[in-house]
Amino acid sequence: MKEKIGFIGLGIMGRGMAHNLLKAGHDLMVWNRTASKMDEFVAAGAAPADSPADLARRCDLILICVSDTPDVEAVVLGDSGVIHGIDVGKLVVDHSTISPHMTRTLAAKVNAKGAFWLDAPISGGSEGAAKGTLSIMVGGDAEQFDRAKPYLDALGKTITHVGGQGAGQMAKLVNQILVVINMLAVSEALLFAEAGGLDLEKTLNAVAGGAAGSWMLSNRGTQAIVRDWRPGFTIDLQQKDLRLVLDAADQMGVPVIGTSLVFNMYRTLQEQGLGSEGNHALIKALEKMTGRTIGSS
Ligand code: NAP
Repeated sequence: MKEKIGFIGLGIMGRGMAHNLLKAGHDLMVWNRTASKMDEFVAAGAAPADSPADLARRCDLILICVSDTPDVEAVVLGDSGVIHGIDVGKLVVDHSTISPHMTRTLAAKVNAKGAFWLDAPISGGSEGAAKGTLSIMVGGDAEQFDRAKPYLDALGKTITHVGGQGAGQMAKLVNQILVVINMLAVSEALLFAEAGGLDLEKTLNAVAGGAAGSWMLSNRGTQAIVRDWRPGFTIDLQQKDLRLVLDAADQMGVPVIGTSLVFNMYRTLQEQGLGSEGNHALIKALEKMTGRTIGSS
């Protein structure tokens, strides 16, 4: 039996995801804090909700994709939050990247109502959200994973049940360590290529198909060489995730040397007012140090 889906948070990621649920023929209800962002979905056949509680009351599966840990807290536990609309058997799926610790706290509150929680953070950028090719890392009960899977299939290509509640968020932090250290490698390599007098586009094409190829190189490296700093993922959001990595690493006593370095480089860019640029603008921190710039717009 098809369940009724509610989607909360129609930002860069949520917008593409909600459109893909509609495209796949799912019965969709939406809610967004800035109400005007719901208009295009209502025009495409979705029903608007008055609040997260209203949406939770009228849907079986409640999908969330908002910015940060306090935002998920507000949407779930706030005065008109999801918690006031859910009851036995409903399932909350949180696609936001937030604290694994807070995830377990929120999940316990939802579980106390007889409802279920999956943490299901995503990777793949705005492009992946729009194309339905996200990687989705899911933590929670295996039976609930099986229940959500047909809906997640409309959103992503690599959907992995990684463990119990909070494990999805931990896997996403692993993902973020890999992303930012890779972006540092891309930045260093491009600046090196520029200093060596290479044509950056040809160089990128030459290395992208070999052992050095990566999603960051092919998607964000190509943007960087034409100095296109529009965000798929902003520096401010990236820093939010790196803070989560540093916190979790501190709690576990694990060194994260590369991640700490990149966190501090992004901080210099935030101090220069560049927090709303894409995370590939990391190269600007290296440019500042060397007095060289790459590419041209
Ligand atoms: P975004 O474009 O900034 O959208 C954020 C969404 O959250 C908006 O719908 C916003 O509502 C809503 N929101 C924020 N705070 C809220 C609050 N306190 N109460 C209610 N709604 C609130 O962000 P995004 O890029 O879609 O990112 C969403 C999540 O996906 C984040 O956790 C991010 O880390 C994760 N993510 C992003 C990417 C990426 O490439 N962008 C990739 C992977 C994962 P308004 O419209 O009213 O502002």
